[in-house]
Amino acid sequence: MSTQSAPSGGNNFLRNLIREQIDSGEHQGEVVTRFPPEPNGYLHIGHAKSICLNFGLAEHFGGRCRLRFDDTNPEKENQEYIDSIQSDVTWLGFEWDGPVRYASDYFDDLYALAQQLIETGLAYVDEQSSEQARENRGDWNTPGTDSPFRDRPPAESLDLLARMKAGEFDEGSCSLRAKIDMRAGNMNLRDPVMYRIRKAAHHQTGDKWCIYPSYDFAHGQSDALEGVTHSICTLEFEDHRPLYEWFVANLTLPASPRQYEFGRLNLNYTVTSKRKLKLLVDEGHVDGWDDPRMPTLAGIRRRGYTPAAIRNFCDTIGVSRSDGVIDAGLLENAVRDDLNEHAPRAMCVLDPLKLVITNYPEDGVEWLAAPGHPNSDAFESRQLPFTRELWIEAEDFREEANKKYKRLVLGKRVRLRNAYVIEAEDVVRDEAGEIVAVHCRYDPDTLGDNPADGIKPKGVIHWVSATHGRTATVRLYDRLFADENPGRGDVGEMLAGLNPASLDVRENCPIEPGLASARPEDRFQFERIGYFVADRYDHGPNHPVFNRTVALRDTWGKSGD
Ligand code: ATP
Ligand code: MG
Repeated sequence: MSTQSAPSGGNNFLRNLIREQIDSGEHQGEVVTRFPPEPNGYLHIGHAKSICLNFGLAEHFGGRCRLRFDDTNPEKENQEYIDSIQSDVTWLGFEWDGPVRYASDYFDDLYALAQQLIETGLAYVDEQSSEQARENRGDWNTPGTDSPFRDRPPAESLDLLARMKAGEFDEGSCSLRAKIDMRAGNMNLRDPVMYRIRKAAHHQTGDKWCIYPSYDFAHGQSDALEGVTHSICTLEFEDHRPLYEWFVANLTLPASPRQYEFGRLNLNYTVTSKRKLKLLVDEGHVDGWDDPRMPTLAGIRRRGYTPAAIRNFCDTIGVSRSDGVIDAGLLENAVRDDLNEHAPRAMCVLDPLKLVITNYPEDGVEWLAAPGHPNSDAFESRQLPFTRELWIEAEDFREEANKKYKRLVLGKRVRLRNAYVIEAEDVVRDEAGEIVAVHCRYDPDTLGDNPADGIKPKGVIHWVSATHGRTATVRLYDRLFADENPGRGDVGEMLAGLNPASLDVRENCPIEPGLASARPEDRFQFERIGYFVADRYDHGPNHPVFNRTVALRDTWGKSGD
């Protein structure tokens, strides 16, 4: 665990470094970055950090940031992922420079560069079996052994590479390798593979290729071909940097990009591995990649998070050269802060108890004006129907209570939010003795005023008209994992850490009538409960559906009062 450095909204080490480079005239002052996702899953919150960093640096220095799919693994990639990634980056509020790019756009160039390396004696076609190659690679304590094919003439390798490309050989029977050093301390330099045979169709290039470049060979060269100056990646690629530099130094390329690393985002109670997230989807532990409990951008969007909250969160955690674990509560606080300021208020009752105002006319109805937001006039005010029968939250009433309970108690007063002061008189029970209604009297002179006798109500509770309100399905989402570190071990451990109470669906929750006309993705603070969003897909005027984004306060691990 480590502490993170200053927010990227201010300074971070990469910003400082680029500033120094610009001052000393490096890269002619140009800053070109890229966000390079592999389209093998949906983006998650960790990717947001990389997106904010890459786009943020380009923005800060008046440069450009590209979106480039790192699509060298056709079997695991597909169009759905490509589409979702573009949509997520756009939703976060970033605009990439020029067209969407693909490493596969450069397959012809990469092939020519591979030939160039063979011609200069720096690459060879290896015909060792994969087992042989693995054995001869050695390990951290044992130097590797040269392949018997290492010194074959370039012409022979060129011919074999062409035949690999033409489909003459089986998968695994040979590969193209860079000739570097089988005894290098850094395993990445032990004649790394540049091309493998894979008889798989590709989503961009179709059946054109049956050999595909490795990540290491494709990435830096794609950077160079498209003029990227700063190739920013996470720390696990630090050991790949010498290889990145080796290719740049030994190939004739239009530019010399450089790689820089930063610490990836890890969040407690959260899994940030596409492979594991895919498993949750494939095995049905969640309802798709955009299930509101998923840490995917599509999921947290559907949960009600805003792009601003995510960007602020990324600013707050900062960027450093060490890996740390960030508290999930920080992300939750970021959305609370944003929605507290920007979400209009509304009322909804999750666990309804009938309240009958005995001194209110049977068919009376008053439309009471309520502010859209307590601290801002920028929000439209609402009209709330006030009637004889209302719903209140069951937990907001007790027959008896001590002084700490500032809600409705028999014989005591409370204010109905945006409405009158009432005093509870009596309860109605069903045959089983359960309270099914509370009878009370209201004081008609208390709209915006305290009772004339000077006895002020102790608290305020929310309510919805039982006759003029509407109802909604409300999905109370909680953290997907109860385990603080669900990503540490194998898949079994991850599944054991799932929070069994991560979803609580409430049907027929009374809502103030205006909420039914919310549009999908409109966000609200349900007063006294939390922040909610009208579901992006399932919500409609005839069947309102709201998802809980986050409770009003951080109650994780604490029992309610
Ligand atoms: P995963 O481990 O989830 O599969 P990945 O690194 O394989 O992630 P890519 O699609 O290759 O996913 O990632 C695109 C970019 O996002 C890379 O530059 C990668 O370093 C960065 N990235 C991925 N995960 C994180 C994270 N948790 N924090 C910061 N950056 C990340
Ligand atoms: Mg990757």
